[in-house]
Amino acid sequence: LPEYAFIGRSNVGKSSLINMLTGRKSLAKTSAKPGKTQLINHFLINENWHLVDLPGYGYAQVSKSTKRVFQKFITAYFEKREQMICAFVLIDSRHKPQPIDMEFMRWLGEHNVPFCIIFTKADKLKAKNLEENINNYKAEMLETWEEMPQYFITSASTKLGQDDVLDYIEEVNEQLRKS
Ligand code: GDP
Repeated sequence: LPEYAFIGRSNVGKSSLINMLTGRKSLAKTSAKPGKTQLINHFLINENWHLVDLPGYGYAQVSKSTKRVFQKFITAYFEKREQMICAFVLIDSRHKPQPIDMEFMRWLGEHNVPFCIIFTKADKLKAKNLEENINNYKAEMLETWEEMPQYFITSASTKLGQDDVLDYIEEVNEQLRKS
């Protein structure tokens, strides 16, 4: 089955977004087997695709060796990526472009990993500031990329963007079935 991966810095709102997309409260957390550190979780959605929850990167509070373990899992996942169709890179829409996110997307590009951007927590900003931040982000992206990747604006609080993301995935799945 096709896989869509979700990844971002810790605290970006990944669990909340995954719960919003799947419509199941605390799904992203409860599925981990107690006592076992599951770094990568797969969730079957609509019987026809897998949502892959990848570990957060850029933790401030963990040791270097923990960071390396996370990094190893993430890079191993993307280097294999047999079923991986698209990675959704989550970006907190309140923040300026962060070097760690830019670096990560550059790495995806170098490894030919298709990705989209999801701007999270849109409800935390006034519409005008949200637009301004997204425009700044685009400008920064265009310094590295020829075009802005496909992007979505979401809020787990208001469910903004829920249908956009899910419809996009279903459309891509439909194209995959046809080809
Ligand atoms: P993760 O570490 O990336 O999985 O982030 P979480 O989903 O746990 O969210 C981190 C914090 O941001 C929590 O306090 C959430 O309640 C909050 N949060 C996440 N998404 C949103 C959102 O769309 N709107 C608002 N207002 N808060 C959010």
